[in-house]
Amino acid sequence: MSSTHPPTSPSTNPPVHQPIGPSQKGAEWLFDTTAADGLLTPEGLSDEHRLMAQTAQEFLAKEVLPAIDQLETKDWALARALVKRCGDLGLLGTDVPEAFGGIDLDKAAAIVVGEAMGGSASFATMFGAQTGLAIIPILCFGTDAQKQKYLPGIVSGDLVGAYCLSESGSGSDALGARARATKQPDESWVLNGEKMWITNGGFADIYIVFAKVDGEQFSAFIVEKGFPGVSHGKEEHKMGLHGSSTTPVILQDAKVPAENLLGDIGKGHKIAFNVLNYGRFKLAGMCSGGAKMVVGEAAKYATTRRQFGQPIASFGAIRHKLGDMLARTYGVESALYRTTGLIDAAIAAGGGTSDAALAALEEFAIEASILKVASSEMLDFVLDENVQIHGGNGYVHDYPAERHYRDARVNRIFEGTNEINRLLIPGMLMKRALKGHVPLITAAKKLQEELLTVGGVGEVRRSSEGAKADGVGLLKKTGIMVLGLAMQTYGAAIEQEQEVLMLVSDILMDAFVAESAVLRAERSAAQSHPAAALQHDAAMILVHDAGLRIDAAARTAIQTMTTGDTQRTMLAALRRILKVTPVNTIAARRRLADAVIEKKAYLF
Ligand SMILES: Cc1cc2nc3c(=O)[nH]c(=O)nc-3n(C[C@H](O)[C@H](O)[C@H](O)COP(=O)(O)OP(=O)(O)OC[C@H]3O[C@@H](n4cnc5c(N)ncnc54)[C@H](O)[C@@H]3O)c2cc1C
Repeated sequence: MSSTHPPTSPSTNPPVHQPIGPSQKGAEWLFDTTAADGLLTPEGLSDEHRLMAQTAQEFLAKEVLPAIDQLETKDWALARALVKRCGDLGLLGTDVPEAFGGIDLDKAAAIVVGEAMGGSASFATMFGAQTGLAIIPILCFGTDAQKQKYLPGIVSGDLVGAYCLSESGSGSDALGARARATKQPDESWVLNGEKMWITNGGFADIYIVFAKVDGEQFSAFIVEKGFPGVSHGKEEHKMGLHGSSTTPVILQDAKVPAENLLGDIGKGHKIAFNVLNYGRFKLAGMCSGGAKMVVGEAAKYATTRRQFGQPIASFGAIRHKLGDMLARTYGVESALYRTTGLIDAAIAAGGGTSDAALAALEEFAIEASILKVASSEMLDFVLDENVQIHGGNGYVHDYPAERHYRDARVNRIFEGTNEINRLLIPGMLMKRALKGHVPLITAAKKLQEELLTVGGVGEVRRSSEGAKADGVGLLKKTGIMVLGLAMQTYGAAIEQEQEVLMLVSDILMDAFVAESAVLRAERSAAQSHPAAALQHDAAMILVHDAGLRIDAAARTAIQTMTTGDTQRTMLAALRRILKVTPVNTIAARRRLADAVIEKKAYLF
């Protein structure tokens, strides 16, 4: 697959350190060489995980998908029945302790279930609000009494939950909420305000509501539908997700007992941000699952639809699309499971408690943002190509392609817009560096010294041991170099330079996904997995294309930040770092397409 040599100078290797496995901390992958050994991959899931996945897939195929047209008429009695059924099957409480009705499995179990739910975006959104947005705040921040009172009902599906953070005037700027909470002489609370776009709003029993105590201290409350002064507004007329309820939630002198304050007064932001971390990570599972299902749908359609006397699957243009859809899905899936393994290892090391889970999700907040953006954009790409493969049939309601396309668009908007998440990625990285958690500043300085002696990237060597990740280290180096240059150029004013920060984010995301794909292919090769050669093709495409995109992003950023000799030196260094190895990615896409056309389902 590769015709040129790997970099030979010691200084061209990815930054220092021994290869490390699953005990890496958040963002360490950027500075370390990760060993493929011990990495969590879908191939390495346990029998228990596979059983959970099968239960969830069968539930979706037999109970949700046949009911989707009816669900889209906003039949909320049906929605409740499906949530209840999901609870009966144990799918709402995969990662909830048994004491509260859950089955206390790891996050990998939650992800395999979330992936299955991704087959119906409307149901997945309902499911996400229930399991992530309603359960997690109570589980991680509730008192024992609150957990006992509310969790068993939400986990069993007898109660439906919703999460009320956004308001018409404060979406991205969630802490700018205007909803107020006023303490009464008897210690109870009166809440006033209107929350917007609340998933499950039309039929939820329990709302997690954020409001400011005395208009200042951002706090959270558990609010029951039956409390006086609580109501919901009309259903929003949305572009997609017609089978998911989205309404305003209105609090008009709503009376909330003292014991329903969730967490501490003024600490609501901790709840909101941690829940978002989890939500982003889970959303990536649903996007990955949705894309995997649609790759199969597209391949099936391409083999049955005939034009010019042959199946459209025989045309190179269509095969190229199928190969691309498959490779991109594989990349995000690999990054998702890699992160899941790291989170589960951190939770286990912390004793497996809810506090350990919270700490682990915070530790991997950068990866959660990367996964949220990468997965939602990958899914939109896959669904757009699926419509295109379906031609006119992709544009009409008779085929699911049109619904998938509309339903998925919101993934780039909720759980923090992709712009906000793109800003968070370098922002959190710089914060971690300032706290001494990651060696960003030293790595950036060292890189500047190395700039004259760098090698080439775009190469995933094939050898008896399988694919190698040598080249990807240089993609990561480019990210460190551009972020280091931005910190040097703008200092404390870097926050104002959103365009450069977005480019840095794009580089880091591309590098993380490409590296995850390579490591997984390497692991599969080492284990002689039957799909190893095709995984290798997918990884090669991802590294090659990431190299091209990273080149453009880094060039744009460097040209903005430098002039004269400095600019010439930096651009020359970039040319050497990102010397993309010529590889035949069209042939690789064809091999992937051939396999997916034959299997008519996602390959890995
Ligand atoms: C179907 C659906 C379901 C939802 N479910 C829920 C739910 O259950 N609970 C809940 O609380 N909310 C929910 N939301 C709300 C959702 O979280 C918000 O819509 C989202 O956070 C974006 O906020 P906004 O709509 O106010 O957009 P805005 O914040 O107004 O953003 C508009 C644009 O400006 C950009 N922008 C904003 N600020 C910045 C900045 N600082 N720098 C750069 N760019 C910026 C954004 O990226 C975006 O492109 C849901 C929304 C939808 C559509």
